[in-house]
Amino acid sequence: MGGRRMDRFAVASALREMGRLLEARGDSPFRVRAYERGARAVEGVADLGALVAQDRLREVPGLGPVLAGLVAELHRTGRSERLERLRAQMPPGILELSLVPGMTRKRIAALHQALGIRGLQDLKEACEAGRVRTVKGFGPRTEEKILAGIASLDTREERVLLYHALREAEGLLGHLREGPGVTRADAAGALRRREETVTEIALLAAAGDPAAVVEHFVRFPLLATVLERDLDHCAARLSDGLRVELTVTPPAAYEARLLRLTGSPAHLQKLDAIAGTRGLAFDEAGLHRAGAHRPLAVKTEADVYRRLGLPWIPPEVRENEGEVEAARAGDAFSDLVTEADVRGLVHCHTVYSDGKHTVLQMARAAEAMGMQYITITDHSPTAHYAGGLKLDRLKRQWDEIAQAQEQVKVRLLRGTESDILADGALDYPDAVLEQMDIVIASIHNRFRMSSEQMTRRLVTAMRHPLFKVWGHAQGRYVLTRPPFECDMDAVLDAVASSRAAVEVNGDPHRLDMVPQWIREARKRGVRFVISTDAHSTAQLRNVSFGVAMARRGWVRKGEVLNAQPLDAFRRAVRPGAAA
Ligand SMILES: [Zn+2]
Ligand SMILES: [Zn+2]
Repeated sequence: MGGRRMDRFAVASALREMGRLLEARGDSPFRVRAYERGARAVEGVADLGALVAQDRLREVPGLGPVLAGLVAELHRTGRSERLERLRAQMPPGILELSLVPGMTRKRIAALHQALGIRGLQDLKEACEAGRVRTVKGFGPRTEEKILAGIASLDTREERVLLYHALREAEGLLGHLREGPGVTRADAAGALRRREETVTEIALLAAAGDPAAVVEHFVRFPLLATVLERDLDHCAARLSDGLRVELTVTPPAAYEARLLRLTGSPAHLQKLDAIAGTRGLAFDEAGLHRAGAHRPLAVKTEADVYRRLGLPWIPPEVRENEGEVEAARAGDAFSDLVTEADVRGLVHCHTVYSDGKHTVLQMARAAEAMGMQYITITDHSPTAHYAGGLKLDRLKRQWDEIAQAQEQVKVRLLRGTESDILADGALDYPDAVLEQMDIVIASIHNRFRMSSEQMTRRLVTAMRHPLFKVWGHAQGRYVLTRPPFECDMDAVLDAVASSRAAVEVNGDPHRLDMVPQWIREARKRGVRFVISTDAHSTAQLRNVSFGVAMARRGWVRKGEVLNAQPLDAFRRAVRPGAAA
């Protein structure tokens, strides 16, 4: 007898475990991501049993032959030999321990051997007792870092990615807007501020009869449980575990309420303080004169800000990171980059490396989005696991780009996503790079070098005399892999003084570089490219997430190279142009 059959969710979590084990082992991120993609694909399958029985798993997008074999084995037998082998190769507790920033497989093995550490609890106790510093290679500072890392994990589990929450919110809002007498409905909270991850979806609706709207809302088919409910408010959990909180308000109070529910708390605190100095109070009930009960009439969020002596501040920058002071000093944030400003799609993969669609298919999709240009940037030879192009195939791709160009109006630009090698060199000879329209330079391997080595590697790459864009700068995956360690100030200084720009990557798992560092780059006058990192035509839409991150980093239209028309963009990024 084999083990118990696994349903699709159990199979998906086994695939995720394998992906994470491979990652901890140091396998390529592409391979690791294939397991995550496979897990999501299996979760979306309606009848896994039938597909296995009819041997049709290969038809599921996202399942290659290896993964399809694994899924069938897991479903039929409840186990996988490969998974068991992987588990046996690793020190105990590696998965939870490797969630702690800086805990490499080597370090985990060393701590297991010296102190018998088998999990987070062990590690925490050993750090607190000062035992970790007794192990070779660890010190009191490492202990402190580890403890801080463990503390940051506590809130991690309930978070979901922005794109996931946005998709759920769309469905919920669609339902809500059909509710009785609903005149408006919006997402508020961290989602409206476009934070990379959220813990809940906050929704606001306007209607004359709030109770009827709550009654309508709880009938949404994907609500798993209603947690709390009263006449104008309801908290619930979706079937995927995400928390939703609905507030319904009379239409007249809608905009003041939207501002309150959007936050952030620190931004609102600042507004409250300003209201106080003007003899006003701003709270849940709206904006009113201190002591008076009846709120002042405000039609829009901008009315509230105006009464506080401020221009309207876009939700993405409401973090109390200096935006109120900037607004007071006359910055209305009216030139923050928008999706409509983007003229070209940058950083796109095709079937030549690990993309799903051809050059022509990608071009047609970009054209349908109204774009002026698209850059084709497949991987370079060192990324062999992602089908990186050697010179002969690169030449063939250039021919294909020329042929595709005859069939579309959108301008095709040829480029590469070149690996930054361990010593900071790029992956093609300069003579080849000079023939490209654009060079994106990214790190795809050797993430765990020391901070000094990584800094040297990046500074060397940024100082390379050909113009390049620093791709997915910090190498993070939101929620699963923290940015690699390097001296960001030093690298950004090198970008600022060299022929380089920084990418804001729109892949919803990357959203890299992080907004705090985008702001630091801006202070140095660095220019940006907002990219898609698309591996399919559908992913060209990633550009909207890139724009959201750029806005959170206070990026202005004039600072974005691909917000410029074709000729200006080409001149700005051309690798061969004189320095
Ligand atoms: Zn990449
Ligand atoms: Zn890429």
